[in-house]
Amino acid sequence: MKLLVLLLVILGFVWWIRQQRPQGMNAKPNSQPTPDSPQSMLPCQHCGTHVPESDAVRGRLGPYCSSAHRQLAEG
Ligand SMILES: [Zn+2]
Repeated sequence: MKLLVLLLVILGFVWWIRQQRPQGMNAKPNSQPTPDSPQSMLPCQHCGTHVPESDAVRGRLGPYCSSAHRQLAEG
């Protein structure tokens, strides 16, 4: 009788493992960011070149493509 209980526990454990697995398989294999993801472009206040927001240099009057242009525009 003990063996039957052990067998039921093992079967229950296997069933539990099988229940857990589909969640991992449903997850996206590798969710890479799309290369053409919309990134806001900011125009340089000195030369007008559009630069990504992450690369833009912030000045008092607005964004700039480089710190050199910020100095030229703002002194
Ligand atoms: Zn510029």
